[in-house]
Amino acid sequence: MNQPLIIEMRTIAQKLLAARTVGTIIGWEKGSRWYLTPPAFIHNEDQVDRLYFDRFAVNNLAKYLLDYRDSDEKVAVFVKGCDSRGIIRLIQDNQVKKENIIVIGLPCAGMYDRAKVEDPENPHDLPLLNKCLECRYPNPVYADRLVGEVSVSSESGRPTGTYSGFATAQSVGSRADRRFEAVDTLNNLPSGQKALLWQTYAERCLRCYACRNICPACNCAGCIFDSDRKQWTTKAALQSANSFFLVTRAMHVAERCVECGECERVCPAGIPVMSLNRLVSKEINRLCGAYDAGIELKSSFPLSHFNLAVKVGS
Ligand code: SF4
Ligand code: SF4
Ligand code: SF4
Repeated sequence: MNQPLIIEMRTIAQKLLAARTVGTIIGWEKGSRWYLTPPAFIHNEDQVDRLYFDRFAVNNLAKYLLDYRDSDEKVAVFVKGCDSRGIIRLIQDNQVKKENIIVIGLPCAGMYDRAKVEDPENPHDLPLLNKCLECRYPNPVYADRLVGEVSVSSESGRPTGTYSGFATAQSVGSRADRRFEAVDTLNNLPSGQKALLWQTYAERCLRCYACRNICPACNCAGCIFDSDRKQWTTKAALQSANSFFLVTRAMHVAERCVECGECERVCPAGIPVMSLNRLVSKEINRLCGAYDAGIELKSSFPLSHFNLAVKVGS
């Protein structure tokens, strides 16, 4: 626990609520177990002491901003690197109004994965979540202000300095190589084996839609998988319909997936959903040149312009 950081979070929240600058603060609070730090929604000054941040504050809070999509209420939201990328994506998709959100950035050293702890009663050397082992942007890439002494550029929302709580370029550098590791492993399997593996995954899918519901890139007001139009797909969890769901979702978040890994983290069936997203990202990078979603507010989108960097078929 980083006590000074938590105190600063609470102070910022208290001032924003006291001045009526925002009506709601979205952050995290300590849950009922040592390994739980779920989202918290703070509406008045008396509640700010609930705010908390530790290595279990895993949820990407960007998605909750969609609850304010049709409202003019101003909201402040605390963000780690992955949350900030999700917010950029929501702004770019015109799902939230930039002027209605105050984004407060926090340093992120990576979140612990309790599921990997061998003895939950005596945890030590806690391992990181897979998504954090591969994360290349643990520091917020966009914020109105940062907790700590670092300021942000009013032009781009990017941090203008670093301080010890933030991950360094060196610590992140080695993770860049891991971005397509899992996808390459799957891709290198013989095609029959690959098809069988994905068939097995599709059979396991429960169509619970947890992957969709937690995803900041899955932000359509109406989803085809909630539609009653039978000609699109059945709601029954059949292997063929599940495959259709998994592939359709991966295509719908193409170019918009901020690689926060939340979809895979919450999947109760252990399906490597991120491999599908990364497969699509890898193809976009191959065809259109280097691209990362949710890094710059003002960026161009490869699939919108479709300026191919390579000849199709190569
Ligand atoms: S994905 Fe990155 S920013 Fe998000 S929790 Fe993990 S290390 Fe932090
Ligand atoms: S598809 Fe998964 S990794 Fe990509 S933005 Fe959505 S939840 Fe995050
Ligand atoms: S979270 Fe997993 S089981 Fe649920 S719909 Fe998504 S892929 Fe299927």
